[in-house]
Amino acid sequence: MINENGLILKASSYKEKDKLLTFYASSLGKIQVLCKAARDPMNHWASSMDPPLLAWCSLLERNHFFQLTDIREMNVFPGLREHYRSRLVYHALLQAIHYTEVAEPAEEPFRLFLETLLGIEKAPENAEWFYYRFMIHFLNLQGFQRDITTCIQCHTVISDDREPFYFSLDTASFLCPECAKKELNIVQVSQNVGSIWKKCQHSAPQDFLKEKAVFFHNFKDLDRIISVIVKQVFHQDFVSLAEIVL
Ligand SMILES: [Zn+2]
Repeated sequence: MINENGLILKASSYKEKDKLLTFYASSLGKIQVLCKAARDPMNHWASSMDPPLLAWCSLLERNHFFQLTDIREMNVFPGLREHYRSRLVYHALLQAIHYTEVAEPAEEPFRLFLETLLGIEKAPENAEWFYYRFMIHFLNLQGFQRDITTCIQCHTVISDDREPFYFSLDTASFLCPECAKKELNIVQVSQNVGSIWKKCQHSAPQDFLKEKAVFFHNFKDLDRIISVIVKQVFHQDFVSLAEIVL
């Protein structure tokens, strides 16, 4: 028997009365859990399976197959359900988790994901900030760090915000002006993107609670860069937040 706090990310119908839950926890990674009779209206679990949900779960494991034996709700994220923008961002986060396959049980990606959801819950008007902060930190945790202040080829540090910086669509990394001359598929990184990236890279979630609300179009270039990186290092089918919104 395994007792674990974790997130129920998705619930889908299974067989006649069952549900298949996508359960994400730091000690288990992302797993599928069978919840027997969850769709039976007489079942006391019937209404408590609505994702996203932070819950204490008791699981029975047999041959890497998990079955839910008990559940206690801890946080039902009402804000994430009610706000349209938060729901879009949540959907985009699920895409990220899906295509980047958090296969290994790992505490840090889980904590990052949980604090992202809690942040969006607290400040739905800044949902996009939390999404991009998550993506940048998640890439770092998975070993695909992209430091926007350092050229990947010559390691020149660009600390001055006025100096132009580039992003290579071929290598999915940042370049100084000199190294960018040798590349064909490059885009110039705007100051706006540079400063958002730096902010996402170095800020704690509570810093975004007071962030002034920025409308989605401000994030378009940033979204494109992240999308190119994730598609290259994880999966071509990854869909970014901007691609979901459009
Ligand atoms: Zn360089």
